Amino acid sequence: MDDCMDTKEIFELEQKYEMNLYTKRGIALASGEGEFVWDSEGKKYIDCTTGVGVAILGHRHPAVVEAITRQVNRLMTCYEPFYNEERGKLEKKLVELYGGGAKVMLSNSGTESVEAALKLARRHTKRKGFVAAMNAFHGRSSGALSLTFKEKYRAPFEPLLGPVTRTRYNDVEGLKSAVTQETAALFLEPVQGEGGIRPATVEFMKAARDVCTDKGALLVFDEVQTGCGRTGKFFAFEHFGVRPDAVCLAKGLGGGVPIGATIAREEVCTYTPLEHGSTFGGNPLAAAAANAVLETIEKDRLLEKVSNDGTYFLGKLKSLSSKSEFREARGMGLLLGVELKVPAKEKLALLIQKGVLALPAGEQVVRFLPPYIISRGSLDRVAEIMGEVVA
Ligand SMILES: *Cc1c(COP(=O)(O)O)cnc(C)c1O
Repeated sequence: MDDCMDTKEIFELEQKYEMNLYTKRGIALASGEGEFVWDSEGKKYIDCTTGVGVAILGHRHPAVVEAITRQVNRLMTCYEPFYNEERGKLEKKLVELYGGGAKVMLSNSGTESVEAALKLARRHTKRKGFVAAMNAFHGRSSGALSLTFKEKYRAPFEPLLGPVTRTRYNDVEGLKSAVTQETAALFLEPVQGEGGIRPATVEFMKAARDVCTDKGALLVFDEVQTGCGRTGKFFAFEHFGVRPDAVCLAKGLGGGVPIGATIAREEVCTYTPLEHGSTFGGNPLAAAAANAVLETIEKDRLLEKVSNDGTYFLGKLKSLSSKSEFREARGMGLLLGVELKVPAKEKLALLIQKGVLALPAGEQVVRFLPPYIISRGSLDRVAEIMGEVVA
């Protein structure tokens, strides 16, 4: 890579000029193709992070590259007051995927898609309270942060939005008493992602729907991580036979291009002009990328692939159960985690040495978010290497 700086220079730049917000992983990524990335020294890795579940079609998927190249050469920016074809097409498709009878607000990230739902819930119900789960992660802007569980993330920034009532995840009785006539909305992840890859039970999801309907609160699913096919259905809520009043998407939707979307049942969309908005939201570049992602998922039958490969890979991970540091492998589709009896951090560093990029999900869980196009050969290799690093 002749046009690249040397690795030490790249590290020094970020160390000198970037705010101290991230625990750096000790390599600089330079390029990617499919499920692989290469660092600044030319070393190849199997990427099971995909930028936290962003590059769901792998890196530089031809359909995404073609769509954004075409759009770059046409129009990148189109503020929402002006109509645009790519945006309209995307909104129609998202409403169809939701099951019809809904409207969309486009934004640029997960936390923004949650903000849009938070404000919508207060706007529509004229109530103030929210209910969220223990170990939930909903983002880091002040509104979404109010719903996020971890004390370390929240404490320095209080007072945040409230009141927020906490309920134990998968605790039906607790949920029934947490949602009241003061609740504007209940926010839930169908599978807790950052919270350790914990799927909801069908019973819990059905109870969530019933109690919200009963109390007149909105049921909002945060599918920023679980959505766009990650669990083998386009929306994870489809596994549970429960439809929310609003659903938040982001991460994988643009296949690598920043985009967020909040989709809500038509009857609850009571926003009037200028009550909410976004400068970049609905831009044609991100919309073109998302349209290409959604078309490719359909054309290449990727939901089926995610479902089959997820079962296959989970089986492989479960076969590590004889290892003494192994506690449990779990997840849905290609959102999978291995809980260990030891901190995940050192194992992640060992995986990097052996050419695999993975993520933490809490202290002791190694999280895998491979792209949907990953080969069986690469999944085998990741499982094999995981077996080598777990004693
Ligand atoms: C990542 C994530 C968010 C926040 O998304 P950003 O794009 O980082 O703002 C919110 N909710 C869930 C469930 C997430 O996984």
